[in-house]
Amino acid sequence: MKIGIISGTGFLVEEGFKFVEEINLSNKYGSPSSSYKKYLFGDNEIYSIARHGEKHQFPPHLINYRSNIYGFYELNVDFIVAFGAVGGINSLLLPGDFLIPDNIVDWTYGRESTYSDIGDTYHIDFTYPFCPSIREELINILKKSGVRFHPKGVYLCTNGPRLESAAEINAFLKLGFDVVGMTLMPETALARELGICYAAVNIVSNFAAGISKTPLTTDEVVEHVKNNDAVIRFIIKEVASMKRKSPCSCHEAIKNARFK
Ligand SMILES: [Zn+2]
Repeated sequence: MKIGIISGTGFLVEEGFKFVEEINLSNKYGSPSSSYKKYLFGDNEIYSIARHGEKHQFPPHLINYRSNIYGFYELNVDFIVAFGAVGGINSLLLPGDFLIPDNIVDWTYGRESTYSDIGDTYHIDFTYPFCPSIREELINILKKSGVRFHPKGVYLCTNGPRLESAAEINAFLKLGFDVVGMTLMPETALARELGICYAAVNIVSNFAAGISKTPLTTDEVVEHVKNNDAVIRFIIKEVASMKRKSPCSCHEAIKNARFK
């Protein structure tokens, strides 16, 4: 299988993988955040990209999501697993917990968020934004890992790069959102537009603003990811060794979505 991995803040794919080459792709949407590193893991080919760039130079609102996802399309990956740190809104989600989100709310703005363009109008179905088959695999992997995790939850994507105010988080809590992050949109929708199976693994790095007793810091986010280094490595290796996935309809999303 060909597997795409998007690594987020503090996540790295390295150990135990046989590095093959660095692939520099750019496409009609511009340059991706970084090169795609190709690795072999057993019989699988792994392609990994650093969402924020190798030097973490791209803040969430300036990431070229369209180019990043289009690169995976050109590499013909079977599916993408995206990693990222989130803030916990729902008090059941504690720092250090993992989450496989099952739905998403997009409150970003000003981002290039679709491949649809003049002359190519379509509206993809996005009822269930994440691939059910990959989600199921990820849930099984997290069960095996022994870490505390949540098999579903609503991810709110804010535009950032600032963190949220206490009043915003209080409102988000009332609206039933579980975690807040800044990067899964438009990534998730772009993958669906191209028919690529996509699911996410989030680590709760902190309580969100107003829920946390202390001011939020970037160090806190990186620290929680580092503390869970062994679990993250386990998850990445399990993802990289996936042999198959059950059938799903992600690749058919564009069918019936176009105006004819
Ligand atoms: Zn799928």
